[in-house]
Amino acid sequence: MKQSAIDRMNAISEQGLCAGCGICQSVAGPDKIKVVKSVNGYERPVIVGDLDDVTVERIFNICPGTRIEGLPENEVTPATKIDNMWGPWLRIVRAWAGDPKTRFEASTGGVLTALAQFLLNDQRVDFILHVKASAKEPIFGERYLSFSEADVLDTGGSRYGPSAPLIDIDEILARGQPFAFIGKPCDIAALRNLAHYDGRVNELVKYWLTPVCGGFMNPSAIDAFLSRAGIKLENLTSLRYRGQGCPGPMRVETADEVKEFHYLDFWGDNASTWDLPFRCKICPDGIGEAADIAAADTWIGGSPTREGSKSDPGTNAVVVRTAAGLELLEAAAKTGAINIEYDITPDDMSIYQPHQMRKKYAAHDRFQGLGDEGRIVPKTDRLRLAELADELQESDRNFQREGTRTRVRSGKATEPKPEASE
Ligand SMILES: Cc1cc2nc3c(=O)[nH]c(=O)nc-3n(C[C@H](O)[C@H](O)[C@H](O)COP(=O)(O)OP(=O)(O)OC[C@H]3O[C@@H](n4cnc5c(N)ncnc54)[C@H](O)[C@@H]3O)c2cc1C
Ligand code: SF4
Ligand code: SF4
Repeated sequence: MKQSAIDRMNAISEQGLCAGCGICQSVAGPDKIKVVKSVNGYERPVIVGDLDDVTVERIFNICPGTRIEGLPENEVTPATKIDNMWGPWLRIVRAWAGDPKTRFEASTGGVLTALAQFLLNDQRVDFILHVKASAKEPIFGERYLSFSEADVLDTGGSRYGPSAPLIDIDEILARGQPFAFIGKPCDIAALRNLAHYDGRVNELVKYWLTPVCGGFMNPSAIDAFLSRAGIKLENLTSLRYRGQGCPGPMRVETADEVKEFHYLDFWGDNASTWDLPFRCKICPDGIGEAADIAAADTWIGGSPTREGSKSDPGTNAVVVRTAAGLELLEAAAKTGAINIEYDITPDDMSIYQPHQMRKKYAAHDRFQGLGDEGRIVPKTDRLRLAELADELQESDRNFQREGTRTRVRSGKATEPKPEASE
């Protein structure tokens, strides 16, 4: 029997594929879908009006839970090198923000903040679409428009809770003003997908910037962490996950107290134990293949050490993928907005990001496992997933495929039907 439009839409969340980007609210209209905090603590699309098959089909083609593609073909130049693991690149450098305050306040070395500030100061864009800490839900990020250098500085630092930057992208495009977008790789994928339907995207989005992303934390795990520290979620007034050093302290505030924790207290010492949404566990592109520039950390092995982070001023690894990205990087360096330390290669990225490599190698067979269990299999293109899987031993491939099947059967890849939590 044919699935109804409503059941098909809910299946994205129920099958653990929603990344919470918010774009389906904008595609369907807020009278039909609202991306809000759901009963499981994530931001999820709650159906509030009539949905038809055409709209849901369109969402399946735009949602980064169901479709993830690499760099658009027209962005690949004759000079572009394509590394099987690290994707298209023109230049990769170690760098940091030229302004010491920006470098200090930001997540790593402040390159994304500095580039955004440069774009505004150089009047290349009217504003930056990105996220900042949510005033209403301190563990969340919320979509934010920055019009000044000071606005941008306020948004620095990674948000490790749900954040939906594309929730009202239709209204933002309707402003008709050129802007830059900074979002996680899945957010970039969503907006690139929208460009297939909406000509305003390529006309107005002048720069696409992304943090390399290993996933955000399951909100119930954040809640559990805070409870263990004696802090009730409802008493929280602000939470900064990192920044003010690299990674800097995680700072948690209530009306009565301020507590600080180390990054490793929050995330743990080993990437394999990170409590991530299922969508992040099977992410085929945490490295921002569809962005002009992707900025990462440079910790050897993927995590900081307690000793090293006491004095680390923060250095980004910056993967420049497009001609527009290269021109931006070099123009920003010329004015001193960023400092380039030296050029590096995809092999250096592999030293800094072993967890990204493991996930990218596994994605193809994890998707096969989803198919085996009758689940939605996300459509992918230009990410070289099959080629990467071919580099693995047969036993490793089976392990990934069977592991995903077991995860699905045990309910670990299943979420409740989205329903507003309040
Ligand atoms: C969820 C998450 C997971 C990450 N995992 C990794 C990883 O595995 N490996 C790695 O090297 N780096 C990871 N990072 C990136 C790293 O933390 C830095 O963001 C990156 O190095 C850029 O540093 P920066 O100093 O230039 O950033 P900043 O100058 O501080 O700028 C950060 C920018 O990212 C935006 N932003 C922050 N959080 C979010 C969010 N949740 N959704 C959308 N936009 C956001 C901000 O609005 C800001 O514009 C992750 C970041 C996030 C948000
Ligand atoms: S990933 Fe984005 S588009 Fe897809 S269901 Fe979730 S909020 Fe909607
Ligand atoms: S790991 Fe992938 S799905 Fe998860 S937040 Fe990062 S880019 Fe999005």
